[in-house]
This record gives sequence, structure tokens and C-alpha cells, in this order.
Amino acid sequence: MKIKVLGCYGADFYEKKNGKGKRYNPSGFLINTSVALEAGTLCGTLTLPQLTQLRYIFLSHAHLDHIQSLAFLTETLFGKIEHPVVIVSIKEVIDVLKNHFFNNRLWPDFTRLPSPENPIIRYQEISEETPIEVEALKVTAIRVNHIVPSIGFIIEDDHAAIVFSGDTWMTDKIWKAASQARQLKGALVEASFPDQLSELARISGHLTPKLALQEFVKLTQPDIPLYLYHMKPPYLGEIQKQIKALKNKQIRLLHDGEMLQF
Ligand SMILES: [Zn+2]
Ligand SMILES: [Zn+2]
Repeated sequence: MKIKVLGCYGADFYEKKNGKGKRYNPSGFLINTSVALEAGTLCGTLTLPQLTQLRYIFLSHAHLDHIQSLAFLTETLFGKIEHPVVIVSIKEVIDVLKNHFFNNRLWPDFTRLPSPENPIIRYQEISEETPIEVEALKVTAIRVNHIVPSIGFIIEDDHAAIVFSGDTWMTDKIWKAASQARQLKGALVEASFPDQLSELARISGHLTPKLALQEFVKLTQPDIPLYLYHMKPPYLGEIQKQIKALKNKQIRLLHDGEMLQF
């Protein structure tokens, strides 16, 4: 399984360091060529031919930093694809998209355009803890602990499994489920704030590096790489220092544009 990191930050952010500009993209990951995990960043990093290959988009929850790219994706794909892109999540998340995003007010309802018979997107509701199989992947949604209904995922192919936390504060179910996955090869876990903001992390439903590590070791076999993502860019330097201080070679921060292979 190949995972291209399109965006791994908890915001859309730009800064200049020593005269050089650097962008930070919100959550978006391309799995192999046809499956996206989160839609905070899709357009702007994938070319039109790449975008037209997308078949499924899995969403952890409906916060904007995870869905914003759906707006320009749907518009860009208009007239360019023959089959709808399937947006997959739990019912509560799909309901937010229906009622508050593709509602013909904020954005057109692309589940009925260009025609209701063959639209640009369609929704697929999934049940928690029940794997579905798409594009040679087995994907299982597990409820996590965020301020809105939110899931993480266990994603498996024939050779490897990974666990993706989604946005979450402390939780147990996903670590139990991931511990049972065969061939677990990596964990992508959020770490939004530095350790000293653990109270802010708690009330906003996020983790810090220390908490992310505490969560990770709930795995029965945490002898796999731990990749942290969803850092809030203004705190990136501090988070980086705190990871370094852990002196644990298994843990590192993801960065935009890199490719992971499991
Ligand atoms: Zn987020
Ligand atoms: Zn969120």
C-alpha cells in the first residue's frame, strides 16, 4: 500500500522563513491511485488526470479542514468523469455534507449534477466496525473521541494494515481493533497541539505528542512506526522539539509531499 501525503497539517497555512515561503496543507492522503483518505487537500496538489482517477474518498468527520477540497474537486470533475466518486463515511458525517455543504446554498448538490442518474459524487454510509472492500483495500471505520461525530480507520491490503486515528482525544476502541489487525505496519496518529496545551487539546478533542504516544502504546504490539500528523502549524516547532526529546526512533512527524510505503 502506497500513501502519498498531500496534506498532513491541522490548518491551511503559509509562512516565510528566512525569506523562503512554505505552505502547510490540511489533511489529505492518496492511497495508491484511486482512494483518498480525507479531503482537506486534493485539488491544488493532484493534477486533473490524477483527480479523474479517484473512485472513493473516505472521511473521518465533517470539519472543514477534512472536507474543503470537495468543493473544487466536484467542480473540476464536472464533465470529466464517467462514474461518480463515492464519498464514504458514517451517517452523521454524510448528513452534514447533505445539509450544510452540497445543499445548493453553500455549494451545488453534485449528487444530482450533471444528472441524478450519473452525478459527480454519491454518498456511501458505512457501519462502524464492519469492514468494506474497495479497490483491493479493506477499510474498517472505528468511532473515536472528537467534538463532532468522528471515526478513524483501519486500512488493509494483502500485505499490510495501517491505523489512522482521525481527529481524536483519548480513546480505546480503535487501538483494540488495530491490535487485532493482521500485519499492522504503521500508525498515523494526530498530534495537534504541544504538550503544554493539553487542556486545549482535551476541550477541542485533539492530542499532543505525549498523549499520542500514550494512545499508541495501547496497541498490543507497538513495534511499528508512529507517524504524527494534524499538527497546528503555528506550534510545529514546539511539537518537533517535544518529539525529539522523547528520543524514540519509532516516532516522527509526517510532512507534505512524502510517500509512505507499507
Ligand atoms: Zn482536523
Ligand atoms: Zn476536527
